[in-house]
Amino acid sequence: MSETNVKEKPGHVNDPNKMAPRAVFDPTVETDKPQEFYDAIKARFAEERDKRLNYRPEGQSQYISDFEGELAKYETDPWQEARIERDAVEEYSEVVFIGGGFSALLTAARLRQRGVESIRIVEKGSDVGGTWYWNRYPGAACDVSSYDYLPLLDELGYVPKSFFAKGPEIFAHCQSIAKKYDLYGLAMFQTVVTGTHWNEKTKLWELSTDRGDKLTAKFVVVANGTLAKPKLSKIKGVETYKGHSFHSSRFDYGYCGQNLENLKDKRVGIIGTGASAVQLVPHLGRAAKELYVFQRTPSAIDIRDDIPTDPEWAASLQPGWQKERLDRHVLGTKPDPDKRKEIEAMDRALRTRRYENQNIEHQIRLHKRIEEIVKDPATAEALKPWYMHRCKRPTYDDEYLPAFNLPNVHLVDTQGKGITEITERGPVFEGTEYPVDVLIFATGFEVQVTGIYNDIRGEDGLELNEKYSNGMRTVFGIHSHGYPNLFIMGGYQASFQFNVTFMLQTQGFHIADCIQYTRDHGYDTIDARTDVEDWWVSEVIKYRGTTNRNKECTPGYYNFEGEENRREDGNYNGGMWQYCEHIKSVKDDYGKFFNFS
Ligand code: NDP
Repeated sequence: MSETNVKEKPGHVNDPNKMAPRAVFDPTVETDKPQEFYDAIKARFAEERDKRLNYRPEGQSQYISDFEGELAKYETDPWQEARIERDAVEEYSEVVFIGGGFSALLTAARLRQRGVESIRIVEKGSDVGGTWYWNRYPGAACDVSSYDYLPLLDELGYVPKSFFAKGPEIFAHCQSIAKKYDLYGLAMFQTVVTGTHWNEKTKLWELSTDRGDKLTAKFVVVANGTLAKPKLSKIKGVETYKGHSFHSSRFDYGYCGQNLENLKDKRVGIIGTGASAVQLVPHLGRAAKELYVFQRTPSAIDIRDDIPTDPEWAASLQPGWQKERLDRHVLGTKPDPDKRKEIEAMDRALRTRRYENQNIEHQIRLHKRIEEIVKDPATAEALKPWYMHRCKRPTYDDEYLPAFNLPNVHLVDTQGKGITEITERGPVFEGTEYPVDVLIFATGFEVQVTGIYNDIRGEDGLELNEKYSNGMRTVFGIHSHGYPNLFIMGGYQASFQFNVTFMLQTQGFHIADCIQYTRDHGYDTIDARTDVEDWWVSEVIKYRGTTNRNKECTPGYYNFEGEENRREDGNYNGGMWQYCEHIKSVKDDYGKFFNFS
């Protein structure tokens, strides 16, 4: 395989001021191989996608996330030390947050700064932190530079320990935010909101919980995370498995040992090779007697190259450094107008072809990396991703591929089929049973469209999913007409941003501003205007483009497992900079965007 001519190198080495490197493709630049080369690879991508789709044509319904009976254990909270016994509560708060992760922490902090004191944070777990509360598997870490990802570093006077922060450091940071802004006192832990209903007469939201609480609130913020509810692949016989098993987001250290020492005489199986498994497998590989990795589609794995924070650099940081850094990085996403013009003037077919060719070059570089690292040629071949970059969530790791050189680590490549049967002893693939003592499901999470655990009914009792049944309708992915005083964080129709905390901060500032404006003007309600909703839906559609890219991708949660979907049911792809500009413009004239009463 020849070298590619796409210039991509890790961007941060010895320079903590830079962002983590991301592939950027430029259609004004030609690639250097004959077109037949790229066409052949594209044809292979299509073949692999079809194979995968034919095995699982049922799309998103191949998964289950409502666990009952034998399966209920996959969602229980392993971090809960004791159940909080309490009576049901009846109370009013000005603002109720559903969820206690970054969305709630960041927005509640902003509200506190604006003098809003009557706040409740209702959280399923036993602490704040959301994703980082649940996902404590060995190796859990973030792929965004810590100096960008960990929010409020200026305010907390904290500099992360390394370029990429690990799970425990991020979880501790969430706790620090909660302490700094005195948010623990507002939290109602081990509680799940089950219903959020608008009362037209009182102009208040009425919330019910699984603890029998009756909460009322003027404002509700749906802050339960984008990928919060674990899901399992529907596999015949899964409930008959007699070994130990758990989901990656409910890692069982009691069974495995704090340092996985109990696995030294155990056969371990892991189903799934997404971002969670990529981080977890090296640790399991080092600890287990035998490790079987059951792969359906390989992840694309790029260089991580983490570096510890340079103390001199840390000492040189001036107050306001993180804000300045984030502004710079977001500004970096502002399209260069000349370049944009040049790209727009290009022949459409040529432009698409060049984007695709560069994307293919990028994937080939990753193939080459696999060949260089993984010694067994058949294993190396099986680990190669055959799809365009960003069809699936890209991953960054330096330990996953070398793990397959260990004699006790076995890749069971199901070639797109996946595991379809489990016996009482373990998974079966093509007639071979793989007996394992413990089976870990790294099979991912349900994607939030609306409130994950929650029945949200607005004016006229219309449930939010019913409203969306003809296509999602929001303003900025945050407001939806007919759901006054309700704000949704981290859902679709907002900008996609790899650095999700930046997105959540942007939304959090905006929500805090909206609440402040409504209160300062003595209004009872703020509700999105329908004409603005029309405009935003058309913006989402416009930027989701008219290409077949989604359809051509191998299935995964990015493209709804290959299901046909409406253009508006997804992220706003106009870019983060543009998204921020739109949100900023609200402050110039709230009445242009909202009805107030
Ligand atoms: P994913 O949804 O990304 O991965 C699920 C995995 O399970 C896929 O490999 C899928 O295969 C596989 N799978 C499903 N059913 C079967 C089956 N029957 N047999 C074999 N394999 C099966 O979940 P993750 O938990 O890995 O990641 C979720 C998201 O969380 C990430 O995309 C990322 O956004 C975030 N995350 C971020 C991290 C970071 O910052 N580094 C770390 C971890 C998670 P297939 O691909 O074929 O569908």
